[in-house]
Amino acid sequence: MKLLVIGSGGREHALVWKLAQSPHVTQMWCAPGNAGIAQERLAKNQSTMECVNIGAEDFPKLLDFAKEKKIDLTVVGPDNPLALGIVDLFQKHGLKIWGPNQKAAQFEASKVFSQDFMEKYGIPTAKAGTFSNVAMAKGFAESLGGRCAVKADGLALGKGVLICSSTAEANRAIDEILVNKAFGIAGAKVVIQEFLEGPEISLHALCDGKTAKLFPTAQDHKRALDGDQGLNTGGMGTYSPAPFLSDAELGAVGKSILDPWLKGCAAEGIDFHGILYPGVMLTKNGPKVLEFNARFGDPEAQVYLTRLENDLVELLDASASGNLDRIELKWSLMSSVCVVMASGGYPGSYAKGKIIAGLTEAGQLPHTKVFHAGTTMAGEEVVTNGGRVLGVTAWAKDLSAAKAAAYLAVEKIAFDGAQFRRDIAAKALG
Ligand code: ATP
Repeated sequence: MKLLVIGSGGREHALVWKLAQSPHVTQMWCAPGNAGIAQERLAKNQSTMECVNIGAEDFPKLLDFAKEKKIDLTVVGPDNPLALGIVDLFQKHGLKIWGPNQKAAQFEASKVFSQDFMEKYGIPTAKAGTFSNVAMAKGFAESLGGRCAVKADGLALGKGVLICSSTAEANRAIDEILVNKAFGIAGAKVVIQEFLEGPEISLHALCDGKTAKLFPTAQDHKRALDGDQGLNTGGMGTYSPAPFLSDAELGAVGKSILDPWLKGCAAEGIDFHGILYPGVMLTKNGPKVLEFNARFGDPEAQVYLTRLENDLVELLDASASGNLDRIELKWSLMSSVCVVMASGGYPGSYAKGKIIAGLTEAGQLPHTKVFHAGTTMAGEEVVTNGGRVLGVTAWAKDLSAAKAAAYLAVEKIAFDGAQFRRDIAAKALG
């Protein structure tokens, strides 16, 4: 099979790495990819991947490329192309593509859509309201005593959620989004949720339009600094499994979300093929869905795909074709930890072009994989080219050993200004 993977982050490197292990793959391209993706080799014939310089949102060029190369399956990593309807476009041209169509991608692209859906179909979520009217939004926030999360409706690069602890703060947040248009059109409406407390976990389910297969748990680390301090980021590290739920509890939580979700999708004519990724808070009143994403988490993909034992091509093909029911997901009993190494200054401004040393040494460690995100080649050197640079991932018999192995690899790698959290998985280890 010929595959095209769309995207350039650590998630896409993990997808490419896992897909490349499949004996079904004879040729694979990634648009636009990164320096690490370009080095992957296919297990079947040892040929290398090819990165093509087409942006993830340049649909006309992606479509031409897929037609010219006679791609059998296109795999979409990031949220934006999904929200913009790449799946609908490829399907219209008779091309097989993995990911939710534009209607289904609304679960991520519109928080108002998701919140209304959750309420309509009884999915456990926070007490919430959705508003475009400033006075009504403020009235609702006041009814919550000002302790709330004010969220811009649309995609806002992970920055559209403002956590408030007083009515004055909530009023400012509402003005920021609805009046000052801090997030532009993405903030034409807001969702206001009551403030919830408890451990947060990431859930993922692979869906084929009728079935949803739940993954094990993972936990993300969104803040830039140790101890969950500093600004929100795209994610500074993750681990799987997260020990806050037993297998039986995870099954029950998954069912409480996925059963009504599938029923709602059927009722609304939503044909969801891809990953549904609910962000869930485990409150003392039970699990509550904070939001839905409609693609693999980044860096959750890095830990999930290092634990997955199935052939990923078979899984994604079945997900795209509606044949998942006959496949059982198989997970290694190993734990996996991913530590993100970022450019100095991230998530604010940062320099690019810093030479990255130690990649070969780190890559030779057992049960370790250095996934690239913001990297590129400058002559013979791999250099930094983004905020999140590497996802250093290791797997071992338990979390403690996986954490030690991941940090051992991190210590081998150096670039000017490198920053990373030292406490990934610490919450799980007590
Ligand atoms: P992501 O980057 O995961 O897509 P997002 O910016 O789209 O996130 P959410 O996941 O809804 O938005 O919120 C971001 C973070 O804000 C959550 O991970 C959580 O820590 C916090 N948060 C969101 N909603 C609430 C809530 N109701 N109560 C308390 N904290 C919340």
